[in-house]
Amino acid sequence: MEKNNKSLSFSESVNYMVDRALSVLNVDPGTSNSIKTCNSTIKVSFPVEINGKIEVFTGWRSVHSDHRLPSKGGIRFAPIVNEDEVEALASLMTYKCAIVDVPFGGSKGGLLIDPSKYTRDDMQRITRRFARELIRKGYLSPATNVPAPDMGTGEREMAWITDTYKQLHPEDINYLGCVTGKPVAHGGIRGRTEATGRGVVYAIREFFRNADDVQSAGLKPGLGGKTVVIQGLGNVGYYAAKLLDEEDGCKIIAIIERDGVLINEEGLRVEDVRKHINEHKTIKGFPDAKFSEDGASGLEIECDILIPAAMEAQITKENADKIKTKVIFEAANGPVTFEADDILHQRGIMIFPDAYVNAGGVTVSYFEWVRNLAHIRFGRMERRHDEMRGAHMLQALETLTGKQSEAWMQKELVYGADELDLVRSGLDDTMRNSYQQLKEVYSTNDDVHDFRTAAYVVAIQKLMRSYIDIGIY
Ligand code: GLU
Repeated sequence: MEKNNKSLSFSESVNYMVDRALSVLNVDPGTSNSIKTCNSTIKVSFPVEINGKIEVFTGWRSVHSDHRLPSKGGIRFAPIVNEDEVEALASLMTYKCAIVDVPFGGSKGGLLIDPSKYTRDDMQRITRRFARELIRKGYLSPATNVPAPDMGTGEREMAWITDTYKQLHPEDINYLGCVTGKPVAHGGIRGRTEATGRGVVYAIREFFRNADDVQSAGLKPGLGGKTVVIQGLGNVGYYAAKLLDEEDGCKIIAIIERDGVLINEEGLRVEDVRKHINEHKTIKGFPDAKFSEDGASGLEIECDILIPAAMEAQITKENADKIKTKVIFEAANGPVTFEADDILHQRGIMIFPDAYVNAGGVTVSYFEWVRNLAHIRFGRMERRHDEMRGAHMLQALETLTGKQSEAWMQKELVYGADELDLVRSGLDDTMRNSYQQLKEVYSTNDDVHDFRTAAYVVAIQKLMRSYIDIGIY
């Protein structure tokens, strides 16, 4: 690919980043191309009657890789979606799944729509119709292609999609696995909604456990008291910011939203901001904070940790020079463009990439899919058994020592893990393990100078292994 002065498309930007890793690994051009290319992309247009008038909607679903099935990735509903974006996002899903050892290929879907302009009923008919198109054309099934929530979609849409699939395939005993991110009452898993944001926080905590990395980023040890700027208080940003605020003692000094930025150097209470948004549909008017309509300027506020959790291409060659953070955790997909990535790297700003940082969502989607195929909730068989063993252990200790146990011992030991405990444990383990895999490459390979390249090296090594094992080459 030739670089020129015009801005790169999303998929070009991702591919240039992947190229760095391919060249570190010395992968030949043919193989490199086959890794980067999307296998197939379908575009569907379909009519739906809205208020007595016919409207035509257009959507895409792209499969970047199917070396492992099902291919996995969300469906977004947004007024700006296009084929290039969906393909770039599908490719990110492939790398993401490989990095966190989720045994899936990569896929992504998008529907061109502004959901705020339609009623719930309209949305239901549109979603079901889109799902029918994808199912009929082989782009949605528990075995081959499993969507999930993304921007503009959530549990509600996933429930409609599942029901549509079930109606078309009542004989499929695994129909619940056709989609993840479902409501818990309809085959979803506890902890999926918070998973991406929580995964971001687990990644940040693991970073702070690695003193050498914290030092290279120019930060003092300890997450408590660190200043954080977050862009986007949607599903991902909200949970990430809330945990950092309430559990880690960080100061959330700015929250950037669609309509501007809220600033408070003493730290914003995330839950209060969220309540304000729910009530007023804007961050404007939130008490105890300065407000500016220039949301983008919020990215340039001096802070320790910057978390873009909104959309792609937010940090570009236009503003990369003005970013004043020490470390960026990419909670959104593709928030930093290829050109900006270069500039930030030269300026010594450390970046933890999307394909690792926001992989918590697909990780817990994987747990949900496994739960759906197993037809049983995690922890159901062993919870009371574990609790009983804990009680016996404690009794044995009391008998042996002749001492009465304390209340906290009873609380911690006489306990069996429920589904939420297990999901969080699996997610934490995944984020820690993957961090160490990235770090191993980052700290031992002289040609790797940043965590993004390290992440792609890890992903490509695993992809190539799997291609070689199944004999494509
Ligand atoms: N849409 C989310 C992502 O970009 C989740 C995908 C999934 O769970 O399949 O990672």
